Amino acid sequence: MLKIENLSAEIDGKQILKGLTLSVAAGEVHAIMGPNGAGKSTLSYVLGGRPGYEVTGGSVEFMGQDLLELDPHERAAAGLFLGFQYPVEIPGVSNVQFLREALNSQRKERGEEPVSGGEFLKLAKEKAALLRLDMDMLKRHVNVGFSGGEKKRSEMVQMGILGPQFAVLDETDSGLDIDALRVVGEGINAIMRAPDKGVLLITHYQRLLDYVKPDKVSILADGRIVQTGGPELALRLEEEGYDVVMADA
Ligand code: ADP
Ligand code: MG
Repeated sequence: MLKIENLSAEIDGKQILKGLTLSVAAGEVHAIMGPNGAGKSTLSYVLGGRPGYEVTGGSVEFMGQDLLELDPHERAAAGLFLGFQYPVEIPGVSNVQFLREALNSQRKERGEEPVSGGEFLKLAKEKAALLRLDMDMLKRHVNVGFSGGEKKRSEMVQMGILGPQFAVLDETDSGLDIDALRVVGEGINAIMRAPDKGVLLITHYQRLLDYVKPDKVSILADGRIVQTGGPELALRLEEEGYDVVMADA
């Protein structure tokens, strides 16, 4: 459902992605691991259409559409969800307001009716329970004063409410303690593990992959995919480190 071919991109005139090729089929979780500064977050920003990131070559096809032709809000309405390594705080806007607004604007874009306040609350309660996030957290301003773990769980609640076809999750495991890691991992499975959905799971650590079992694992280094394998590749990386595994390739 996602097909990236020979993608190159730069920020502030500095080339970060250097001919990156990767596909994710429907029903798959594809994990991406790689050293710091390899371009993992850049890839997720480019897929989301963040301003400032200039695509200088290659193509991205998402569910039969040219993703790079779409504005960020059109990408979201088409079913693409981005989870951020550093979720932003939005003072003055409650989580519930924000989520309902986001859901209804995506529905509008797709020509669907808005959900009512009652329907929305039911959906929000269901997803908050799934992520063991207290409903009070959803009434607070978006991410303001949230702990690292609360931000990530709240982001997964957002994913549950929006119900995307495809999620790009950038280091969703960072800042999580062991219990939160399990809750978030199980949440990702519950929301995104389906024959018609896909996930690109960017992570530094194998431990998240104990919960969200990847079908494929790729190593991103210096702006390209240098190796792809099965779940065993993540275990090897954890044991031997990037240098050894990449030198062997
Ligand atoms: P990763 O997520 O794999 O750790 P990033 O995608 O965040 O890597 O960063 C890739 C590279 O891009 C890094 O070397 C980083 O310093 C560089 N980079 C990120 N933002 C900018 C910017 N605004 N200007 C110049 N270089 C940048
Ligand atoms: Mg990063």
